[in-house]
Amino acid sequence: MSGIGRIHSIETFGTVDGPGIRFIVFTQGCPLRCLYCHNPDCRSAHDGKEVTVDYLIDEIKKCKSFIRKGGVTVSGGEPLMQPEFTREIFKRCHELGLDTALDTSGYCAIEAAKSVLEETDLVLLDIKSYIPELYYKVTNVSIEPTLALAKHLSEIGKPAWIRFVLVPHLTDNEENITQLADFIATLKNIERLEVLPFHKMGEYKWEQLGLPYSLKDTPPATPELVKQTVDIFRDRGINALGAVGL
Ligand code: SF4
Repeated sequence: MSGIGRIHSIETFGTVDGPGIRFIVFTQGCPLRCLYCHNPDCRSAHDGKEVTVDYLIDEIKKCKSFIRKGGVTVSGGEPLMQPEFTREIFKRCHELGLDTALDTSGYCAIEAAKSVLEETDLVLLDIKSYIPELYYKVTNVSIEPTLALAKHLSEIGKPAWIRFVLVPHLTDNEENITQLADFIATLKNIERLEVLPFHKMGEYKWEQLGLPYSLKDTPPATPELVKQTVDIFRDRGINALGAVGL
């Protein structure tokens, strides 16, 4: 049990990371290096601030009246870098009768994820690409742990939403999307799939951190491209929708 963890920030009125209005904890530290990351300041495991679960639960209690029908989402960064901390937050949320959602890239050891999943009602699984070489190019890590987690979630029947960021000239090629759609169609636990159109709202953070932003000249995903992509998923019976923002 770990009552202390490192977070980047909290948001008290989230509307896009899970059902209803949600209290969101953004944990600090992420092993991925996504080219489009809109929160590059979340990635270093040494930054952010250390907080106790007690502190977070006190903050969550203040919001209880309006998140009662939504819940609490732990996002990042990558929450599964701090599995004991994340599990403890969720366990305490369940004691308060609140729904819990885990927003993860799935880049973790399954064994570490399992204990968190026991206290997780919904998983928001970000699959950033499907073709392994392309996944590596986008994230700088292997896709294998993410696919292993996706299959495990299907096996245990854990409700999940898949999130896919559509980046023109990077993740939008048809082969990548059809292969991802074919894979998702084999899973039994997917409640919805969100196609998130690429935007550059996080670009200024890369500049502030002095990091080179390689997608400077990449255009935003158009509504037409989002619709074409959503249709590829829907053709396979997946409940896909185009969402706004990352
Ligand atoms: S997983 Fe999220 S926080 Fe980590 S690098 Fe990718 S976009 Fe950024």
